[in-house]
Amino acid sequence: MLGSLQHIDLPMRKFKELEEVDYVIVGVGSAGGVLLQRLARAGFNVVGLEAGPLWDTERDWVSDEAGSHELYWEDPRVTGGTDPLALGANNCGRGVGGGSVHWAAFTPRLHPSDFEVYTRDGVGSDWPITYEEIRPYYEQLELEMPVAGPAYYPWGHPHGYPYGPHPMGGVGNALIRGCSALNIPVSIGGPVAILSGSHGDRPHCIYRGFCIQGCKVGAKASTLITHVPDALHSGAEIRDHSMVGRVSLGKDGRVNGVHYFDKDGKEHFQCAKSVILCGYAIETPRLLLNSACSGFEHGLANLSDTVGRYLMAQAGTVVLGRFDQLVRMYKAPPAHALTEEFYETDPKNDFARGFAIQTVGPLPLAFGKQMVAAKKAWGWGLRREMMDYNHWASFGLLGEILPWPENRVTLDEEKDRFGLPIAHVSFNLHENDKRLIKAATEKTVEVMHAAGAAEVVHEARYAHLVGAARMGSDPRTSVVDKFGRSHDIPNLFICDGSIMPTQGSANPGLTIQALAARTADYLISQGDRVFTSNDRNMATPPIRREFAPPETWGKGVPRLT
Ligand SMILES: Cc1cc2nc3c(=O)[nH]c(=O)nc-3n(C[C@H](O)[C@H](O)[C@H](O)COP(=O)(O)OP(=O)(O)OC[C@H]3O[C@@H](n4cnc5c(N)ncnc54)[C@H](O)[C@@H]3O)c2cc1C
Ligand code: SF4
Repeated sequence: MLGSLQHIDLPMRKFKELEEVDYVIVGVGSAGGVLLQRLARAGFNVVGLEAGPLWDTERDWVSDEAGSHELYWEDPRVTGGTDPLALGANNCGRGVGGGSVHWAAFTPRLHPSDFEVYTRDGVGSDWPITYEEIRPYYEQLELEMPVAGPAYYPWGHPHGYPYGPHPMGGVGNALIRGCSALNIPVSIGGPVAILSGSHGDRPHCIYRGFCIQGCKVGAKASTLITHVPDALHSGAEIRDHSMVGRVSLGKDGRVNGVHYFDKDGKEHFQCAKSVILCGYAIETPRLLLNSACSGFEHGLANLSDTVGRYLMAQAGTVVLGRFDQLVRMYKAPPAHALTEEFYETDPKNDFARGFAIQTVGPLPLAFGKQMVAAKKAWGWGLRREMMDYNHWASFGLLGEILPWPENRVTLDEEKDRFGLPIAHVSFNLHENDKRLIKAATEKTVEVMHAAGAAEVVHEARYAHLVGAARMGSDPRTSVVDKFGRSHDIPNLFICDGSIMPTQGSANPGLTIQALAARTADYLISQGDRVFTSNDRNMATPPIRREFAPPETWGKGVPRLT
């Protein structure tokens, strides 16, 4: 039973403890939610095991910054390296919907160049798929969420959005002013997976700015409201508060289920013909490493020694500007305008790849933390800055940091409450990354000044972790193939942000969900073969639009092709 917005008028299917299901999905987040829905609709017996709760949005959520911390994965992790990442509220979700519950819902696509970074620029690596292979899934997910944005979006592969753009808030107006003054093209009102008009039983956005707190209104897309209701209607089971600690490998070299802990810490086993990991860029490699066993002493599916490596974060420095006039940053979704004018490699730069500049609308607590970091404000000084909140605007840069083998997830000696070794995340910036961040920060500061800000400060930070179980064609240098299938174990799949070989400077959520829909089409096209055969059919599967949640395909205005 979900909250009133996602009311399900039938009991959830329950599989018996020792019943062998077709698929067990570990983590019902951005990718897991899409996959669960597709596989259930195609008639497979599928269970989603989710470490966090199955939210009732009416009962559990509040439109309040301090009251929303339950949405985040805040279990202990160790962070290290020369440039350690902050781990917690700023990266992972916990609970059905995962990170899509607290994301800001910016949904740009990757550019065609992102799929051949090594060939074009001699850095990073190429993907085993091209933009054209993922493009139909971008188009499909943009309808399923759906995405609002301009009728013509000029960057990467130019395209249009099926739903009209949003009106501008104060931060968006500042970005438009700054970019226009410098002759930088800017996209206004999206792309963002927030309803600009009502859609089915979901109401339109009311512009109160609580998107990162879950959007109690239901205007912002999360798999909790876009895909999970249809998954349950189609016969999937979701077992919440179920923390998977180990994937089990049978004597035949195939996985046969997962061990998990319930809310009371009691251990259970779920039998399955195939296992799909959708736990996010830290928890998926951690689970593989924790599942080491005979034949895989260094981690399950890790004969390549690539599990945990090539972890990426995007540079996410926030630039804040004070304006004499009122801005009121909370009065709009944080995500509503951006420019990708600096996305591609420019030979005039002293670095490869590029960055985007986007609106960010921190609420007062987040703003206060930024003032502590950017201005060393404290005590009465911090109080004065916070009373001035309505005069500040905030832009975020999103910069492409390249994949490096030593940026990685390993296991720490410390254990969590289930006795499982916690993740140790090591992160170092390299010369290309540092140069890119410097140039991106300077450009974003320039735009803020051009918008008319009298005072400009910034806080260096990171956003959006991906990688650490990357896909590729070569089993010696990647963990999974182009459909997310483990090179080492034929009935083990990975389907989340961890399989991305590079990240571009687009927010990753749309790409993660598009890849999940593509993996689902592959599994549907394979039928029972995945459960019985070790042969790999690498043919491109047909696109099964009829398995999308009903009433989503074919709506919206015609797109540009
Ligand atoms: C504040 C914020 C704003 C963001 N804004 C944007 C944005 O505007 N646009 C965008 O594209 N992206 C955004 N992101 C990033 C985006 O949310 C993530 O990239 C995306 O959700 C990752 O998807 P995933 O499927 O890999 O993992 P998740 O969505 O995090 O799902 C993983 C799920 O697995 C569960 N899980 C993990 N381990 C286990 C286990 N062992 N057993 C059982 N369950 C487990 C977790 O509880 C979680 O529910 C934002 C992130 C943050 C933090
Ligand atoms: S601003 Fe719109 S999308 Fe964001 S929380 Fe409010 S209603 Fe939801």
